[in-house]
Amino acid sequence: MTAHRILFIVLDGISDRPCPELGNRTPLQAALTPVLDRVAHDGICGIMDTIAPGIRPGSDTAHLSLLGYDPKRYYTGRGPLEAEGCGIRMEPGMIGFRCNYATVDNEGKVIDRRAGRIHETEPLSQAIQDGVDLSSLGVQFVFRSGAGHRAALAFRGEGLGVSVTSNDPKKEGVPPLPFLPRDGDEADRRTARALGEFVRQAGEILRAHPLNLRRQAEGLPPANTVLVRGAGVMGHFEPFEKKYGLSGTVISAAALISGIGTAVGLKRVDVPGITGSVDTNLSGKVKATREALASSGFVLLNIKGADEAGHDGNPRAKMAFIEKIDAAMAPLATLEDTLLVICADHSTPCSVRDHSADPVPVVIRGEGVRVDRVTAFDEVSCAEGGLHRIRGSSLMPILLDLLDRSPKYGA
Ligand code: ZN
Ligand code: ZN
Repeated sequence: MTAHRILFIVLDGISDRPCPELGNRTPLQAALTPVLDRVAHDGICGIMDTIAPGIRPGSDTAHLSLLGYDPKRYYTGRGPLEAEGCGIRMEPGMIGFRCNYATVDNEGKVIDRRAGRIHETEPLSQAIQDGVDLSSLGVQFVFRSGAGHRAALAFRGEGLGVSVTSNDPKKEGVPPLPFLPRDGDEADRRTARALGEFVRQAGEILRAHPLNLRRQAEGLPPANTVLVRGAGVMGHFEPFEKKYGLSGTVISAAALISGIGTAVGLKRVDVPGITGSVDTNLSGKVKATREALASSGFVLLNIKGADEAGHDGNPRAKMAFIEKIDAAMAPLATLEDTLLVICADHSTPCSVRDHSADPVPVVIRGEGVRVDRVTAFDEVSCAEGGLHRIRGSSLMPILLDLLDRSPKYGA
């Protein structure tokens, strides 16, 4: 019997380096993880350079690589994928940007780059969408709210460039910066002009918006301007279903990962209460995953949280979240007719407080795998496993082969 579907679980940033606070063990080694260890026991393990040895991956480039889309060819910056993740249908050639709602004072100086961590900004974004007009500049736009104070912007128009600077001063007490073309290119100048006009008109609408007037009355910082960054042009992605013959679903709290999923043609399932933080609704995600597997040949589930604890440099919090993930994953660990893959997209060592190029552990469990002698899911144990050290780009071909769907190379 061969499995017919793939459950691909990415535990974002879960792997680490030895932490002195944990007796020189990694959080994954120190945590009690009976479910992950059982999967390691029943599966084939290894370690993996999600892009290549020594390359320090972003979550976006790592996920592209894991899905078999070479980031060197497909990655055009975070903006367009983030815009896709905020629900903007990005067509090839459109230009995407990441945005923040922010607060400026009466003198135009930025006093809060996140507008008091405002959330539920949809009425503001809708007012901007309805009120801003860039047609005299030959630009159509889409603007949408993201999680919290975040939003995304997309431009469509002839002769627009992407090599433009951000208006985010990256600090408070100074005015936003002007948008500038990075080199003297006319296309970049057009984009910079359109961005300047967008922010000017958006600011007028925001200052008069009832939601902001109410915030001011309550002593909260109004979301009265938009900071824009991360310009990139949307590329053309070969559809996942065409590439692999499998229909797929993505489940993730992070707009960036959902955006990558829908950009390659995966169906997106949103789960209420998932935040990407350690308080995320894990059981809701697990339930949604089981439901998605009933109709999809491939489900990508991203669980964030551990990455956040790594960025915070907090090994104990990371360990505690790993134990929570482990317990929540129990219903997914023994599914029939399913190839289960568990890995990370990159390491986020607490000592680094950022991503590192250290390889990540990986396990594949399911019909047909050559079970090795590894019995624990962690960075060191998995290095002894039968997969040895692979690259992220090899994972989908290995999985397809285990599904007996790999094309034969040669006679
Ligand atoms: Zn990540
Ligand atoms: Zn991270």
